Amino acid sequence: MGSTFSPDQLERYARNLVLPGWGVEAQQRLQEARVLVIGSGGLGSPCLFQLAAAGVGHLTIVEGDTIELSNLNRQILHTTERLGRTKVSSAGETLQALRPDLDLTLIEARFTADNALELLADCDLFIDASDNYDTRFLANDAAVLGGKRLVHGSVFRYEGQLMDVLPGEGPCLRCLYPAPPPPGTMPSGAEAGVPGYVPGVVGTLQAAEAVKLITGIGEPVVGRMIVFDSLYMWFDELKVQRDPECAACGDAPTLTSLR
Ligand SMILES: [Zn+2]
Repeated sequence: MGSTFSPDQLERYARNLVLPGWGVEAQQRLQEARVLVIGSGGLGSPCLFQLAAAGVGHLTIVEGDTIELSNLNRQILHTTERLGRTKVSSAGETLQALRPDLDLTLIEARFTADNALELLADCDLFIDASDNYDTRFLANDAAVLGGKRLVHGSVFRYEGQLMDVLPGEGPCLRCLYPAPPPPGTMPSGAEAGVPGYVPGVVGTLQAAEAVKLITGIGEPVVGRMIVFDSLYMWFDELKVQRDPECAACGDAPTLTSLR
């Protein structure tokens, strides 16, 4: 098949192109892919950076926050001189500097039940790089209802988790955790603390999963939750089976709309 890559692009992606199983065809799939990322903070920063660097053609960022000084221990798309600016514009500026040919859609908004399905309509897959349980479960439910592939990632203190939700092919987040913890029972990120390298690892792994799903390289993290513990420097996995009683993806789902 003919490649549409320029000589500069072939040089930029030279270290990808020589990889076993990669080649021009996988690179072309990345170039044509449309990936939406919820958040451009601790997880979104490394994830977006890796996706742009790998050669994903179209990225959409959904982010409603502005940059605060306390973000900068981990949110590596942003800089000190951009304090107070919207994260979405700062993320766009950093990514565009890395990849001038990157097609970016910047959406300054939160990912909510009202806009979720509309936002997801024209993406091939999406990544939850948010920092709260409500958005994680909303992303899961939107993936199942909208039939969109989702790469879930989350961090808590020194630990992180990663799982792909592929509707119709494997379990969803609610098969493992039926509902988010009640409000007030878990500390927020601000209360709990997080070292930058933990979302750095997990956000990078989310980018790896997205690249694998787009190109077909490797085995996606389906039916298992990867657990990463940075204190012992240890990865483990929990087997996850689709729960026939799951409210989202079970045999008689009760979650039939996003509230
Ligand atoms: Zn489920």
